[in-house]
Amino acid sequence: MSSIFGHAVTSIALGKAYSAEKESLNFWLLAVYCSVLPDGDVIAFYFDVPYGHLLGHRGLSHSILFAAFLGVLVAYFFFRHVGRFTPRWWRYALFFFLVTLSHAISDALSNGGLGVAFFSPFSNQRYFFPWRPLEVSPIGGLTYFFSSEGWRVIRSEFIWIWLPSILLVLVSTGVRRYLIKRKNASLTVTE
Ligand SMILES: [Zn+2]
Repeated sequence: MSSIFGHAVTSIALGKAYSAEKESLNFWLLAVYCSVLPDGDVIAFYFDVPYGHLLGHRGLSHSILFAAFLGVLVAYFFFRHVGRFTPRWWRYALFFFLVTLSHAISDALSNGGLGVAFFSPFSNQRYFFPWRPLEVSPIGGLTYFFSSEGWRVIRSEFIWIWLPSILLVLVSTGVRRYLIKRKNASLTVTE
């Protein structure tokens, strides 16, 4: 896993890139929540469920299907005010799907543990990407971050999560501004 901070930063950057609207606090809290929720499966260790099991760590809760299910569930319960099953509502469902999936993707980019069961429950095969730059962050308390290993994790997340996240926000904001400007310019011409 990346650390909770890594997942949270990714979710906020995705939110900024995805939505041009001023979103509610609820939206941001749910985004962070979806990005860390898959690791709720670590509870499996306490019940002696083996790591490689369907319900083991990085199993079902890290799958594409789980992300889709959570995306729809969050939109269903928290975004009914935009009109359930309208295009706008689906955009929220898609966003929360992507944010949840970003967790599994960053796990599959990490250099430790078992891979991610993207296609669970249909296949329990575990996957990693061929390129895995992220230092794995063991599940531990805050004190861990002040150990030398902790600094290695922070450094790798800064390079591979924080910087790309900042870049994503800057580029998406820039592109959005450019498109608005161009649209306004074409409106002025046609007037
Ligand atoms: Zn995870």
